[in-house]
Amino acid sequence: MEYNPDKIIFTAADFTGVKHGIKPVSRVGIDQEIDTDYLKNLCEEESLNLEIVESAIYDSKEKSSYAYIGKDKENIEDAIGAERKGDGKTAAHLFGYPDCCVEKYSDNEDIADNRFQLKMWENVDTAPHRMNSLFCLDSKVTREKIREEHFFHKLSSLSLSYLPYHPCSLDCSESLEMGKQIREKMGEDFPGHRKKVDEALKGPFLLIDDMNFAALEGQKDGNEIKYGDVKTDLTRVEDKNVLNALKKGNKVVENNGLEIHQAGEVIEHIEEGTLIQFQKTG
Ligand SMILES: [Zn+2]
Repeated sequence: MEYNPDKIIFTAADFTGVKHGIKPVSRVGIDQEIDTDYLKNLCEEESLNLEIVESAIYDSKEKSSYAYIGKDKENIEDAIGAERKGDGKTAAHLFGYPDCCVEKYSDNEDIADNRFQLKMWENVDTAPHRMNSLFCLDSKVTREKIREEHFFHKLSSLSLSYLPYHPCSLDCSESLEMGKQIREKMGEDFPGHRKKVDEALKGPFLLIDDMNFAALEGQKDGNEIKYGDVKTDLTRVEDKNVLNALKKGNKVVENNGLEIHQAGEVIEHIEEGTLIQFQKTG
């Protein structure tokens, strides 16, 4: 049976990671109609345990449906129990997140702040694209906005990341290693999908915050990106003026925030934001 990212609800990174023993357990919320038979058959074929539970986890008062997969049934039970109790640290270890990243997220109040990633990513243009967790919706998923928005649903069904979580920093060596392993295994299992993920993650990107970003067809050079098109399927910019300016423009420059240029003229200014490119394309 073929892995089908449209049907499986687990991201390719989560599924590949568990299948190859790179991470013990993966969990996903089931908030839409899904083909559970497909998931059951696929897990059976790959000798993975699957458990679907109705549960209230962490500070949520309402019960929701969650699917957990893992090679080891006991790990799944432990993860379910930990999440019910709100024991994020234990759950995070079972999800395979490195200690340093778990520490960062459990001790850092910035996590609730969607500028966290922006701070982490500021002025980075050399990190390998397998560290790019821009399209990983894991820590964003509780936000009401995401539940409502078609864009994010589409994005998560494309599952464009190698890291199924956000690393503590862009030189976190354990995350880098995991991204490398998952990418390698994804290439063996679903080469077509890996190609898509590779292309999507290289950048360059204009990043306003983790809910507002644009993927551009171009190259970052110093503090600017010259570009042709905006890759609209990988772009979400709430401010219509900014989005329109980006579509008209051909260059963005970091200069006390960001400037959007068209034919040498500044046509729009964004107060705060950053330009990043994870890997030179070419
Ligand atoms: Zn880390």
